Amino acid sequence: MTHNKNILQDSHGRDHAYLRISLIERCNLRCSYCMPEEGVPLSPKSHLMTYEEIYEIAKTFVKHGVTKIRLTGGEPLIRKDIPVILGKLATLPVELSITSNAVIIDKFMDVLKVNGVKKINISLDSLDREKFKHITRRDQFDIVYKNLLLLVEKDFHVKVNVVLMKGFNDNEIIDFINLTENLPISVRFIEFMPFDGNKWDMGKMVSYAEVMEYVNASFSKVQIERLQDAANDTSKNYKILGYKGSFAIISSVTNPFCDSCNRLRLTANGQLKNCLFSSTESDLLTTLREGKPIEPIIQKAVLAKLKIRGGMDTLEKLQEPKLHTNNRTMITIGG
Ligand code: SAM
Ligand code: SF4
Repeated sequence: MTHNKNILQDSHGRDHAYLRISLIERCNLRCSYCMPEEGVPLSPKSHLMTYEEIYEIAKTFVKHGVTKIRLTGGEPLIRKDIPVILGKLATLPVELSITSNAVIIDKFMDVLKVNGVKKINISLDSLDREKFKHITRRDQFDIVYKNLLLLVEKDFHVKVNVVLMKGFNDNEIIDFINLTENLPISVRFIEFMPFDGNKWDMGKMVSYAEVMEYVNASFSKVQIERLQDAANDTSKNYKILGYKGSFAIISSVTNPFCDSCNRLRLTANGQLKNCLFSSTESDLLTTLREGKPIEPIIQKAVLAKLKIRGGMDTLEKLQEPKLHTNNRTMITIGG
């Protein structure tokens, strides 16, 4: 194997310029689609990347072509050294962004601004306080909604992630779209995806086609504008004419976007995952701690990336429980 050419290009010709780094396996919410109620076994602290290690690994990826880094988790903002991590990563020539449940994000406005974070994705699955409490198993709707408005007021570029579940929040699709009338946000409806411990079944998922049925029933054809999707975009973007914001659908289940995938994931315990759905991992942290170069491991992992959804290329395979239990829970992958 040669190590001097583009180590972030896979065997299907895809270049990987986008790294998502999970900072922590813990969270201050307990979303049922993300983690089991009883929690998940946590890595001992000594197995988690320190901020210096996060920076070292990120630097290597940037050297080889990564231009975007998104911090995620668990809940990235509950990590005590988050200001230091942001400060270190802000010295790299990358677009730095974060995904958060927004419960405590009001405490971080300045540190996010100072470190050049402009794009923030937040999770909000219901506009109904009781339903929010049910899905997250915590009573935090009011603060999350307030923080959404605060982020907009502070001029962050905000995307709101809504995981749709049949019979639970599909009747709120239009309410979410109506939020975009006066708020310059993008609401992104995400097809519920299967991971270990989240009791997924196809019947609970609301598909891209079903979202559009709701939209078509509420708005006329001339009101619904299909927007140009950005390169490597995972979402199909739309806008209601005259509304300030937009909405999108992330259809990983019914319409995967693997052809243009440019993402790699680093878990909080320093494992490289070449795909969200892949059950294999490559241990960068141990190699780094042994003082060895991590590039050969990165290259091997990237070359091993399968063409579609970690090998689950059909809906039948996606429905096979065994294939998910080989993977992690979402909270420990980093969405
Ligand atoms: N705690 C942060 C948050 O909730 O935004 C960041 C981590 S969370 C794992 C990242 C994203 O993954 C969230 O938007 C969440 O809705 C999404 N997610 C988690 N489990 C999912 C699933 N089973 N299907 C689809 N999206 C999921
Ligand atoms: Fe926590 Fe985010 Fe998972 Fe919800 S989706 S449990 S907020 S990590």
